[in-house]
Amino acid sequence: MRNPFETDERRGFRESMARFVAQEIRPFADEWDEAGGFPWELHRKAGDLGLFGFGIAEEYGGLGFDDCFMRAAAGEELGRCGATGVAASLGARNISTGPIALLGSEELKLRVLPKVLSGETASSLAITEPGGGSDVASLQTSARRDGDEWVLNGQKTFITGGMNASHYVVGARTGGPGLKGISLFFVDWGTPGFSRSALERKMGWWASDTASLYFDDVRLPASALLGPENGGFIAIMNNFNYERLTMIAQGLGMAKLCFDEAVAYARERRTFGKRLIDHQVIAHKVAEMSARIDSVEAYLNQICWLAENGPMPVAEISKAKFLSTKMLEYVASECMQIFGGAGYLRGNPVERVYREVKVMAIGGGSEEIMKDLAIRQMGVAAG
Ligand SMILES: Cc1cc2nc3c(=O)[nH]c(=O)nc-3n(C[C@H](O)[C@H](O)[C@H](O)COP(=O)(O)OP(=O)(O)OC[C@H]3O[C@@H](n4cnc5c(N)ncnc54)[C@H](O)[C@@H]3O)c2cc1C
Repeated sequence: MRNPFETDERRGFRESMARFVAQEIRPFADEWDEAGGFPWELHRKAGDLGLFGFGIAEEYGGLGFDDCFMRAAAGEELGRCGATGVAASLGARNISTGPIALLGSEELKLRVLPKVLSGETASSLAITEPGGGSDVASLQTSARRDGDEWVLNGQKTFITGGMNASHYVVGARTGGPGLKGISLFFVDWGTPGFSRSALERKMGWWASDTASLYFDDVRLPASALLGPENGGFIAIMNNFNYERLTMIAQGLGMAKLCFDEAVAYARERRTFGKRLIDHQVIAHKVAEMSARIDSVEAYLNQICWLAENGPMPVAEISKAKFLSTKMLEYVASECMQIFGGAGYLRGNPVERVYREVKVMAIGGGSEEIMKDLAIRQMGVAAG
């Protein structure tokens, strides 16, 4: 569908992203997902493309500008890569560099960001704990002051990119219960008392290194505190906006990949003397999927325009996040159905996307939590 907000720059960026995905990821997606990882070189290639630099100044290795449409284009094109665990592992930077760039000291930004943004090293965001992810205000990992240092104790889990990251942004309790007692910390891998283990046997995202993190009396310098003490909750919530926007776009790209594959198959496969696409039931599935894909695409474009021309449209992002994953769930299921038995075999990208639907509907704020947030933002109920 034509985007009324497109410009030459945005089109050019999308084309270079699409080329990158088609040449550097798609041909290897199946092999990498089965192997549970991909060559580090891909991080560097994505860094060269500027994938990690939105909203970060050039002196720290960033692009020196931001553009919501380009962020969305990157998410959508990566969603088409055929194994979005690859995209997740690359993109763990995008959800962790924001707090470093916004809240870190000059020394920290100069030390860390250029290498992370170029793809030489990686960073992860660690909020979720074994005790829960939705209720961020109740997180239990603690950081207490000891002289000039902080002492970090606790555990995080489901941390994307967590096995290969060199740096982490970690949410921890520094004050009383609830959202006003949380702070963000910067933690280097290698700090004594910090260990990690791989979370394996996931339903999908096999190419992504997901970790549990353990902090056992980890001593951090005073400068590890990112932003104000006990002011971490709002920083975490603000940081979610771009993560969710990217996930809306990624879900759109995943749906388009399934759709293209299923339509191509339906135009070839013959049953009862005619092509699948010529059976009205199948044609109607295609029409229904196309309409739902278009509606998320149009909503996303409007959200990008709002973000570019005013405050972050938090309610719309929340609504579009669950709309996108509901659309993806429907499209992935219908496309699997169109493939019949052939869709049930590993190696078919539709089969993989079908297994990746749930992480999109749960991660970065689940459908239920997005509806709660939308209701609160709309001001119609406490939520
Ligand atoms: C592959 C993967 C990668 C991830 N990567 C990261 C990462 O990089 N960093 C990070 O910090 N986290 C990450 N997460 C964690 C993710 O953000 C959490 O899984 C998510 O926030 C939900 O938390 P939970 O799993 O603890 O579920 P819970 O919070 O225990 O919720 C369980 C279910 O109950 C529902 N629920 C909870 N509260 C309510 C309510 N009030 N009303 C109605 N329903 C409710 C939820 O929607 C969910 O369906 C990742 C998760 C996965 C699966």
